[in-house]
Amino acid sequence: MKLFDSHAHVDGPEFEADRDAVLARARAAGVARIVVIGAVGDPASAERAVALAERDPEIWATVATHPHDVQQMTPAWWDVHERLARHPRVVAIGETGLDYYYDHSPRQLQRDAFVRFLELARRTGKPVVCHIRDAHDDARAILAESGLGKGVIHCFTGTPDDAAAYVALGFHVSFSGIVTYKTAQPIRDAVRRVPIDRILIETDCPYLAPVPMRGKRNEPAYVVHTAATVAREAGLSVEDLAARTTANACAVFGLT
Ligand SMILES: [Zn+2]
Ligand SMILES: [Zn+2]
Repeated sequence: MKLFDSHAHVDGPEFEADRDAVLARARAAGVARIVVIGAVGDPASAERAVALAERDPEIWATVATHPHDVQQMTPAWWDVHERLARHPRVVAIGETGLDYYYDHSPRQLQRDAFVRFLELARRTGKPVVCHIRDAHDDARAILAESGLGKGVIHCFTGTPDDAAAYVALGFHVSFSGIVTYKTAQPIRDAVRRVPIDRILIETDCPYLAPVPMRGKRNEPAYVVHTAATVAREAGLSVEDLAARTTANACAVFGLT
C-alpha cells in the first residue's frame, strides 16, 4: 500500500528533534510521498520546506504565507515567495486562503493576499493549496473570479454542499484527521459528495491527529487512520483508497 500525505508541516520546530525518525516512520507505514507546506509564520518556513524537498526525491514543497500570518507580510516576504514559487521542487502555491474562525489577520488583508497568491499561481502555472475556515462563500467568489480552477481545498471543514461547489469549480478536496472525529458526521457526509478522482488525504501534522492518535503530535505515518475512515465512507478498500488518492495527488501536483 502506498499513501500520499498531501499536507504536512514537517518543516516546523515541532519536528526539529526527530525529523528523520518521523520521515522513516512514514515510509515504514506506507506513506511514500509527502507535500511539505512552507507557509507558517515568516518565509523561513517556505525556505525550510524547499530545502527538505531538495534533499528527498519523494518530498515536494509549497510556498505562501498562511492567512493567519498575512498581517505581518512585508515586500521582502513577497520577494521570497516570487523567487521560490518558480523552484522546480515547488508543486503548488499555499497554503493561502481565508480563516474567519480565528481572524488572526484582518479579513480584508486575508482576501487581498489570497487574490495575490492566486495571481502568483496563475503566473507560475501551478495549482493552489487553500485553507478555508468559516469563509466558504467569500472563498468561492474569489476562486471563481480568479479562474484558476486547479488546486486543493485542504483540511476540508465545510458542508457537503460546500464540497460539491468546490468540485464544480475544478478543485480537489482533501480530508484530514478531523474526518475520524465522532462529531464530524457532516465531513464524513461530504466525502460521499466528492467524486473519487477528486479526493485527497492529509495529516496537516503536527495538528489534528486522527483517532486513535487524537491529542498526540500528529505525523505523516498517522495518515493511514484517515485513509481508513475515508475509504469506509467512499465504499472502497483502504488499499484502493490509498492508490486512488495517491494518483489524485500526483495529478493535481503535476507529478509522475
Ligand atoms: Zn490549513
Ligand atoms: Zn496546514
